[in-house]
Amino acid sequence: MTDTPLSGPDFSRNDGLLPAIAQDAATGEVLMMAWMNAESFAETVRTGRAVYWSRSRGKLWRKGEESGHAQTVRAIYVDCDADTILLKVEQAGAACHEGYRTCFFREVRPEGLKVVGERLVDPAQVYGKSGH
Ligand SMILES: [Zn+2]
Repeated sequence: MTDTPLSGPDFSRNDGLLPAIAQDAATGEVLMMAWMNAESFAETVRTGRAVYWSRSRGKLWRKGEESGHAQTVRAIYVDCDADTILLKVEQAGAACHEGYRTCFFREVRPEGLKVVGERLVDPAQVYGKSGH
């Protein structure tokens, strides 16, 4: 096995925003997908905590800063095209702002959407009535 020269995600693509998938480091469960820019990626690498870019708020989103549901990063991967990021994380509480462990708590079935996840927390308790 040989290492390729060290280079990270290519933020010159997609207007500097790359999709980042968070996966449970222990179980492999896919928890969520969010966006990263170069700044959020650098802070994630530096701090070992997942930091994303919030497109809706137009600022860095330090996962868990409001909810306490932070992600401790155990490993970072980049895909073959260097334009998708994979984080293997330890998730505190619920990854999803709707209170589910994973954002993918709904299964698409022929008859429609079926909620297959279990709600861990009430979002109103976590984020207050303002939500986000
Ligand atoms: Zn979610």
